[in-house]
Amino acid sequence: MYSKIFRTVIIGAPGSGKGTISELIVQTFGFLHISSGDILRQNIMNNTDLGKKARQYISSGRLVPDEILNKTMLGRITEVGNKSYILDGFPRNKEQAEVLAGSEHIDAVINLVVAHDVIIDRVKNRWIHPPSGRVYNIGFNDPRVPGKDDETGEPLVQREDDKPEVVKKRLQLYDKIMLPVLEYYKDRGIVTTFRGSRSKEIWPRVELFLREKIHKCP
Ligand code: AMP
Repeated sequence: MYSKIFRTVIIGAPGSGKGTISELIVQTFGFLHISSGDILRQNIMNNTDLGKKARQYISSGRLVPDEILNKTMLGRITEVGNKSYILDGFPRNKEQAEVLAGSEHIDAVINLVVAHDVIIDRVKNRWIHPPSGRVYNIGFNDPRVPGKDDETGEPLVQREDDKPEVVKKRLQLYDKIMLPVLEYYKDRGIVTTFRGSRSKEIWPRVELFLREKIHKCP
């Protein structure tokens, strides 16, 4: 869609709307969405060598070792060739950021900041249909029949780890882990922070930012 290849990293806590914003970037600008979590989950599902290695870490809530992630993500970036992309979930520490910088020039880092209270409140109202992964948000996108999935009529459930105290811990941990990555990119002057509470409100600013950035690129 655009001649200049534009390489971005998206950073945002779980529940910040990172998935929604990434999807809108894909639809609007034709970027590829390269998500480390998705790649790992897919490999686990297909029981590949990588999947077998990653499974033990992910299931116990640990990060997968850097060597594995670096190789996987750089491999994927090379595979997609000369296309604009958004990296999601990678880098997750300074070492990964350095390895990435060794082979790729990152043009921009999109940092989504949504207040913890807002995320906790939103997640509290989240109900899911486990077999399909469909997500409903009470007061925002309600199911047609309360407590029932729209397509199948099956019951909706709340995830154990969507409980406020669990979410709060997860958010604090996320901020702590990502701080060095953000600092790394801030030192290089490429971070743009978007604050808000809803993707609907954040998206127009991200869109404008990308349009201007892409336009300015030679
Ligand atoms: P995510 O969907 O991004 O939360 O990723 C799911 C899980 O995959 C994480 O909890 C980690 O165990 C693993 N993972 C994803 N990205 C990375 C990364 N960059 N470094 C290490 N582990 C990762």
